[in-house]
Amino acid sequence: MSKCDLMHACSFYRRSTEAGTGLGVLYRRAYCDKDWQQCARYSIAKVLGPHQVPQDLYPNMADRARQMISAAPDPASRPFDSADS
Ligand code: SF4
Repeated sequence: MSKCDLMHACSFYRRSTEAGTGLGVLYRRAYCDKDWQQCARYSIAKVLGPHQVPQDLYPNMADRARQMISAAPDPASRPFDSADS
């Protein structure tokens, strides 16, 4: 089973690894090491760009991620696509 391909650039992953214990570690094991396709942070990074991921967003906050994505301007109206940066 593969790990998330964003883990080297993800602040949540780094913080949960540094913490070594707690809720962040549980989420890291459940999402980053396993079901990364279901991660709220991952979906925003892939659709809106990694710089649009809120620092306080947890991997299980799918509803918030969906709201952010649906509220984002149409990609065609953006001056550039931050997902490519
Ligand atoms: S929190 Fe989400 S985006 Fe970050 S490394 Fe884990 S699965 Fe990937």
